[in-house]
Amino acid sequence: MINIPKGTKDMLPKDSYKWQKIRHAVECIAQKYNLKEISTPGFESTDLFVRSDGNSSDIVTKEMYTFLDKGDRSITLKPEGTAGVVRSYIENGLGNEILPCKLFYITPCYRYEKPQAGRLREHHQFGCEIFGANSLASDIETILIAYDFYKSFGIEPTIHINFLGCDECKDRYRENLKKFVEPYLKDMCDDCHRRYETNPLRMLDCKSEECKAILKDAPAVTDDLCPMCKSKFEDVKKMIQGFGIKYVCDSKLVRGLDYYTDLVFEFIDDDKVLGQNALGAGGRYNKLVESLGGKQTPVIGFGIGIERFLLYLESKGITIPDDSKIQVYVASSTENEHYVIKFVKSLRDKGFCVESDLMDRSLKSQFKYADKIHAQYVITIGDDEINEKKVSIKNMSTGEQEKIWESDLVEYLNKHVQ
Ligand SMILES: [Zn+2]
Ligand SMILES: [Zn+2]
Repeated sequence: MINIPKGTKDMLPKDSYKWQKIRHAVECIAQKYNLKEISTPGFESTDLFVRSDGNSSDIVTKEMYTFLDKGDRSITLKPEGTAGVVRSYIENGLGNEILPCKLFYITPCYRYEKPQAGRLREHHQFGCEIFGANSLASDIETILIAYDFYKSFGIEPTIHINFLGCDECKDRYRENLKKFVEPYLKDMCDDCHRRYETNPLRMLDCKSEECKAILKDAPAVTDDLCPMCKSKFEDVKKMIQGFGIKYVCDSKLVRGLDYYTDLVFEFIDDDKVLGQNALGAGGRYNKLVESLGGKQTPVIGFGIGIERFLLYLESKGITIPDDSKIQVYVASSTENEHYVIKFVKSLRDKGFCVESDLMDRSLKSQFKYADKIHAQYVITIGDDEINEKKVSIKNMSTGEQEKIWESDLVEYLNKHVQ
């Protein structure tokens, strides 16, 4: 027997309705906010993720699925959703059309990481990117889109926010942070030594206990923002507070990638039912389009891991109701198979959800099966019914049974089935 690759999961038929609910929730939100769907390939040139400007993240260096294809091109399975969308935005000139360009996607992502609860080598992300807008309204809209998604499943996570600021603020902070860390650098981990040179902010989300202890008292980026950045951050906080969204200012929240500017945020599960507790994250990346060869374009977006989200709901005891219904089961006790097949088709053509016997079962077994699949009504067709132009119909929840004219059936079903 061949087994599923490590760190991957099948979506089994018994769970498919949950995924359909997720997609449905996303589509409702997309419609409300006028987001258009974009889909980009599962793999891209490795250059898209590992860039020559040294702007790389720890994901990139350690966890990517990278390989040479038969044409000796370095290919990477996409580790996250944003880069491919930005590549497509630039390549297809989407910025030359009407702005803002508001996009969403649901995509598989791949990371070669140690499989553990809620972290898979292949997982799916619901993401959203708004290109071309750099306003308070676009910051708030992005947060509300993510929040609406959570709310449609009955949860209201806390949003942790931080503000990295403009270029000057970021540069100033980078230097302040390096100055603070310098005397302790010798006690920090190898990764932080590298980050100190290439991406100092990333030191702030180091997982090593020694580094964490040293950085506990590090200056916060928001302590020293320029007046403009300061007032932008205040505005964001005021607005989300006004909407009753719980928020926490988190000066250690930097989102590893160097292209983040201004606002960054994470949705956090206060109960920590999954341990590692971000349920989704995002921010503004006004440098990214430019760093991939496009025109300078502000972008804000987020990503939410769907498998983690489903696991989270499960751990919280929140069930997604399965409201798929079999309205009618057509049981047959006649040899006239052609008649039954045509009858079933005619009901489906009228829009009903209909099941019938495909297994040549006995009438008794057909009823048993109808019960098992929770059919609301069972219609029995035997030779008598065919001759009388009638059908026997049984309400499976009340047990009531009656015979009605076949010509009245559609009206009957329209009145009774849910
Ligand atoms: Zn600033
Ligand atoms: Zn470290």
